[in-house]
Order: sequence, then C-alpha cells, then structure tokens
Amino acid sequence: MNAPKAALLAIGDELLSGRTVNTNAAWIGVRLRDMGFVTVAGVTLPDEPQQIVASLLRRVGEVDLVVAVGGLGPTPDDLTRDAVAYAAGVSLVEDADVLADIHRRTGGRAPERNARMASFPEGATVYANPIGSAAAFSLAIGEVPVFVLPGPPLEVEAVWGAVDAALRDAFPKLRQREACTVRVFGPHEAELAQQLGDLLDRGGEPIVGVTAREGILTVTVSGPGAKERADAIRAVAGADVLPEGCPRPVDAAFRSLKEGGWSVAVAESLTGGLVASDLVSIPSASDVFRGGVVAYPEEIKRDLLGVPAEVLKSDGPVSEACVRALAEGARTRLGADVGLATTGVAGPDPDPHGAEPGLVFLAMAGPADGAAEVVQLQLGGGRNRIRRRAAHSAWDLVRRRLS
Ligand code: AMP
Ligand code: MG
Repeated sequence: MNAPKAALLAIGDELLSGRTVNTNAAWIGVRLRDMGFVTVAGVTLPDEPQQIVASLLRRVGEVDLVVAVGGLGPTPDDLTRDAVAYAAGVSLVEDADVLADIHRRTGGRAPERNARMASFPEGATVYANPIGSAAAFSLAIGEVPVFVLPGPPLEVEAVWGAVDAALRDAFPKLRQREACTVRVFGPHEAELAQQLGDLLDRGGEPIVGVTAREGILTVTVSGPGAKERADAIRAVAGADVLPEGCPRPVDAAFRSLKEGGWSVAVAESLTGGLVASDLVSIPSASDVFRGGVVAYPEEIKRDLLGVPAEVLKSDGPVSEACVRALAEGARTRLGADVGLATTGVAGPDPDPHGAEPGLVFLAMAGPADGAAEVVQLQLGGGRNRIRRRAAHSAWDLVRRRLS
C-alpha cells in the first residue's frame, strides 16, 4: 500500500499576521509522519468561512486525510465548525453531554456563547477535550475523513491520544515509513547536490530531501528503500558525513576525544565562547574539557596564551601565525592534549588591519607533538552567522583529525 496522503489546514488570522507561530503544524506533522502518513500540503487560512470551505473541498479531492486545527472557540471569529458542516452538507446539532460539560467547566458564564462549542456537524464523532471547552471532532466529507482540532497547542496535545486511536482505526494498514537521516558538514548545499547527483532524484520512493542549518546539511530519506539510499549517500559524501548519533560536529569531536582519552582546551577570539559552549552542552563534557580563554585584546592573547608579540605585530591577530600560537597556547597553558583556537573578523566592519568580514582562521594543536593544523575559511552572512559557522568548523577540524 502506498502511504496515505494528509493535508493540514491551520486556521486563524493570527497565524497569517505572524502574531502566533504555527507550532501545531510542526507538532502534528511529526506525528502524522511517524504514523505513516505523508503530509502533502500544509495550508494556513484566515478565519473566513468561504475560504475554509473552499480549501476543505479542494483538499478532500487530493488526499486521504484532512486535519484542520483552530477556530473552534466561542468568539464570533471562530467559524471552523460552521465551515466544516457547510462543506459536508449537514447542519450543526447540539451534543447534550458536551453542553453539560461546558456549563460545568465555565461555571455557567456566557451560556449562549459557550454553547456554540457543544454544536457539531450532524454525524460527527466527538473527542472530549480534557483541558478545554472546545472538543475535537471528525466526520467524512465524501469518502475522506476530516479531523478538526482546537487551536491551543496544549489542547491539541490533550486530544491527540483519541485522534491517534481513531486514525489507526480508520487506516488499519498504516505502516511506519522507513526513514533515515544523514548529516553532512563541509560542503555547501549546491556542492553536495552535485556530488550526490541521481541519489537526490525525486521521481518516486524513497523520498529524499536536504535542509541546511548553521552549515550542517541534513539529508532525510524516507519510504521503501530508505536504508539502501542512505548508505549510498554516505558512501559518496565520505569524510564529510557526521557519524550516526552525532547531529553536530562537536558531538563527533567529543566522541573521538573521549575514545582517545584526550583532553581539550580552547582559545577563542571571534567565537567568544561558542566553541566552549558547544562542548559543554554535551553531558559529561567534563570528561574531556580543561577549559578555555576568550581572548580579545592583543595583550590577553600575548600574556595569557603566549602569542609572540612579533606575530601580533607583523601578522596581526587575524592570521595563520596567530591562530597557531593561540591553539598551542591553549594546549600548553591549560595543560590539555588538544588545543583548539579561533580568530577572525565577524564584521560588519573590516578589522583594523584590513581583513574583510568572514575571514576566519581555526587551528588545532595536538594530540601529537608538532605544528598545529590551520584551516582558513571565508564565510558569508552576518556577524552571528559567521561566528556560529566558525564554531562548528572548529569542532569539525577536531572530528576530522581524530576520526
Ligand atoms: P482557536 O481554536 O482558533 O480559538 O485558537 C485558540 C488559541 O490557539 C489562540 O491563542 C491561537 O493563537 C492558538 N493557535 C491556534 N492555531 C494555532 C497553531 N496552528 N499553532 C499554534 N497556536 C495556535
Ligand atoms: Mg482562532
């Protein structure tokens, strides 16, 4: 059986004006995927009954399941139940149990307005809302089940147990889709796409997608054949692939440091603590972490980390010679096996020595003796994007050297 298709309608003016972020889409989307649905459309609609009706009628012609969320409250802008009834060609009828429950919950205040929430399209199945007055419901429009949920995210969660059970009844052949994730650090998105070529083809199953965040590329592969395709992608991307269970370069670096029994210390200029912070976000980072120095002015680089005054004078603080001395200084002065250092120009202005924003030097000293390894990058984007990406790149240097 092909995976059933779902459409998700999020209803509410506040979602379109940006006052409320549509978190329900993400929360529900993950659960539908985990159950075995493929969500093929996620639509945000205003509190306009005509648009809600039109969207429902269109989607029931395209998918196997519609989930609509929002607009079930007691105020005049909550029109979803009316729109769903209209689209199904039925009227609204009152549910006495729900009405009694609402009166109990609201203490009998504004009884007429609250009573609206006890009306459901004729023939609908109602799912009690244990924490709010707006119950969820489902009914078929044509052959297609439409599930309608209240908007507040906590209420979505509260009714989801009943919705999940009803969906499994309605779709007895649901099977969780095979899914794999491959994370890559190093190449840009376009470079990875070029390397992978046909492996990213979207003609059929499995479905492959690539997303980029902070320079970390996530390739998701889902559907029959996912594992084989993911293995092929790993083989082509080679050393750029982060090991399984390591979503960031620092996770892989930590693993290798720990396996090797090596400690690490950092000297950070440009990144101002991000490199250290990434490491200490991992439980038991203290097994490998000696500490770090955030060194901005030249005298701190010189006095605390031993960068020679001649280097600072002749090469400047954003240079290969300086970053190498910073890494070696972190290693020796903090008594670590590995020293890791960053320096660069975060921008937006060039540094006093004329280096352009985005110029970054990273260095790793140790664990074996010998000169530190240096990487030079030219990163794009604003100040904090450059800093973020530089921190990931610093840990990526450790990951590659130690793996
Ligand atoms: P409603 O059911 O439309 O009365 O929604 C009530 C509350 O839920 C409001 O505070 C909305 O901003 C919030 N809400 C509605 N839809 C969503 C959504 N898709 N994601 C997050 N919050 C929502
Ligand atoms: Mg609303």
